[in-house]
Amino acid sequence: MKKTGKIRNLLSGAIMVTTLAAASAAQKPQTHPWAIVIHGGAGIIERASMDPKTDAAYRASLTQATKAGAEVLDRGGSSLDAIEAAIHILEDDPLFNAGRGADFAADGKNELDAAIMDGSNLKAGAVAVVTRTRHPISLARAVMEKSHHVLLVGPGADEFSVYAGLEQVDPSFFFTERRWQSLVRQLKKEGLPVPPRPAGAPPAPPVPVAEIESPDAHKYGTVGVVALDRQGNVAAGTSTGGTQAKRWGRVGDSPIIGAGTYASNQSCAVSATGTGEYFIRLTVAREVCALVEYKGMSLQQAVDQVIHTELTAIHGDGGVIAIAPDGQMAWSFNTPGMYRAKQAEGGKMEIGIFNDEP
Ligand code: ASP
Repeated sequence: MKKTGKIRNLLSGAIMVTTLAAASAAQKPQTHPWAIVIHGGAGIIERASMDPKTDAAYRASLTQATKAGAEVLDRGGSSLDAIEAAIHILEDDPLFNAGRGADFAADGKNELDAAIMDGSNLKAGAVAVVTRTRHPISLARAVMEKSHHVLLVGPGADEFSVYAGLEQVDPSFFFTERRWQSLVRQLKKEGLPVPPRPAGAPPAPPVPVAEIESPDAHKYGTVGVVALDRQGNVAAGTSTGGTQAKRWGRVGDSPIIGAGTYASNQSCAVSATGTGEYFIRLTVAREVCALVEYKGMSLQQAVDQVIHTELTAIHGDGGVIAIAPDGQMAWSFNTPGMYRAKQAEGGKMEIGIFNDEP
């Protein structure tokens, strides 16, 4: 090759490399350090009634989910992608009341609710009482991205899930012995009829499974994630089986935008857990963001005000996690425990279960 040709080739290569680098920098401005906060439900979760093995299992799951979300954020992925990745892990984990391991309604069915919201454009998607989608959080996202609607419920939402091409499972996929026996105990205690064991469930074990934590703790275990990505966008997602032994098509706060789930780049992103009726009445998630936006409260002040003052005043129980576009992370709960974890770019992951942990 002639010398001039070589130089030209080298030059055009260099220009191409520079152009490519500029283009990818334009797509991914690395201005915001990322952060993520996760919850796995709040409730009567007490040290005295949790054995070390169960304690370790919860902490391991929270670690795995936080890592999955953090990895997405670290490579420049969106807060929505991070939320989906982390929630998939929690939905597949039978320890949590979301996806597999969901609580049973009084009729012996698993009815799943989920919501997701994008703080950058206030788009949101949610589903309630769905029965066949392996990952309800992805269905909520599909409602946001592939429909003109915000909330789909029941058989229509199940149908949309097939249309959106999401993974379908037999309802027995969500069955766990622990939740089933917990339902049977509660129905008997309340003098309500016990439905037949669900079709497709494994045969009943000869001895009842040991209760994990206190009996009441089984009513909780909803999962939620809030995240801040490198583009500076916040988002929130929540997924749940709702409350144990729910009846009459009951839907809680998780799929109600503004109650259990909310996100806005103007203020913050919030995911809640607890007895949903109180969270709906207070529009808890939006209330937290309103206090930040209009009263100029810090994120921690806002979550504490809503949980310890407003929620407690109406005798509600539960907690929230929250994140703000400037990187503030917060959680607050008025129950003995809340499964939780958080991590910010360059920082250590923090995990907690009980209310005597930071
Ligand atoms: N908030 C959920 C509901 O009421 C339950 C929970 O968080 O434990 O459906």
